[in-house]
Amino acid sequence: MSLSSSIRRRLAPLYYRRFEKTPDIFRLYETYRAHDRLSRQQLLDVQFNSLQSLLLHACHHTRYYRRLFHDCGFDPNRFESLEQLNLLPILTKETINANYSDLIADNVDEKDRHVSCTGGTSGVRMNFLRDNRCRARRFALQWRSDAWTGWEPGSNVAYVWPAAQDLSPRTTWKQRLVSRYATGVFLISAGVLNETILSQIAADLCRIKPALIRCFPSAGTEVAQYLHDHHIALPGLRGVVSAGESVSDTQRNVIESGFGAPVFNLYASREVGTTAAECSQHRHLHIAVDSQVVEIVTAGKRMALGEFGDIVITDLLNYAMPMIRYAIGDYGSLVEGDCPCGLPFPLLENVVGRTGDNLRDCDGKTVVPNTLTAHLIVHGPRVGQVQVIQNTYKEVLVRMSADPAPDQSVRDFYSTNLKILLKGLEEVRFEVVDHISYEESGKYRFTICNIPPDMPPPGTAR
Ligand SMILES: [Zn+2]
Repeated sequence: MSLSSSIRRRLAPLYYRRFEKTPDIFRLYETYRAHDRLSRQQLLDVQFNSLQSLLLHACHHTRYYRRLFHDCGFDPNRFESLEQLNLLPILTKETINANYSDLIADNVDEKDRHVSCTGGTSGVRMNFLRDNRCRARRFALQWRSDAWTGWEPGSNVAYVWPAAQDLSPRTTWKQRLVSRYATGVFLISAGVLNETILSQIAADLCRIKPALIRCFPSAGTEVAQYLHDHHIALPGLRGVVSAGESVSDTQRNVIESGFGAPVFNLYASREVGTTAAECSQHRHLHIAVDSQVVEIVTAGKRMALGEFGDIVITDLLNYAMPMIRYAIGDYGSLVEGDCPCGLPFPLLENVVGRTGDNLRDCDGKTVVPNTLTAHLIVHGPRVGQVQVIQNTYKEVLVRMSADPAPDQSVRDFYSTNLKILLKGLEEVRFEVVDHISYEESGKYRFTICNIPPDMPPPGTAR
């Protein structure tokens, strides 16, 4: 064992207890890992008991659910089967925004909860709360599905990550020490890419020697292509977890050939953490039913196995702000039967909804969709749905839903920030529409790039 891994084994528990407020993360990981060996029925029993507890908590400690359960004639004391959830309406982002304070549980101490924010995949921003108990469990569940790739806690993980809200502008020496001697987690910013940045990322990866890479496929594909073109290998890499967006077959092929390791698709979100993850069979995603209830719903009706519809999630872990039957804005279907890998978790497939094109600027930089999400949606003024369409290197069209109507300050914010992010951009046009619809495939495209792939940026077309 190397000196740094020996130090890490001692420091990691201290770090997670002191700085991440997750004191029992290693024990939780072992508990969840043991669920890999339960039977399907044992797992569903764990789920049902957790759901019962959550429903009682929501009724006793939140104004929103107390009122809702009363209005719907739903008695959590008589909850006997998942079918009874049908009595409750779907919880949307708009409902959460409108009932924010009534959704907060009155028995979770303020210092034990923290605010998070989402906005990317459906184009609607939403703040929500989580508690530290939930946070620790989410960490452990993430480790569990990461372990399905062959990675083990303590081994290096490189995040090739465009989500700017997760990254400091510059890595400090303290963060480098924490990465090396406590967590093994290394963050690599990949929100804006060009040859120079890609060569730095490649050098960082060679130095870090990750056992696991976690990436958004939009950024991962660019990095993998660079490694492939420059014949750079990453020995010791066990797998690449694709997160944040849907991964296409083409992206999967480029990533696997460039990184030299299999892709494991992950379906996770800021709101509810890990929902489902791919196993070594690479066929479907295993649903973490010991922490969530996943339903497929269309027009208020629960769909049967194999039928496609809205993914609706009840988070069994978040007691600070319970989310019961939350429509996350993605689509998918449940799969009948078991997976040959032997894991007991039920299966999910055809998850779509989270997608967008990379945009390009006059300097030849690629800007991945999540960079725009972070700057415009998460840190920007509150708006309805948004779609950014790049028609040429110099012109972008921003489509916004009419509710709430975007005023001049919103337009100025978008115009200014898009011109900062996309060098050489001259014109930002706006179009206000009733609703930005999903495509036939069920995908909501946050960003669309209409520049032909073979058209060079004006700066290089001399
Ligand atoms: Zn499997």
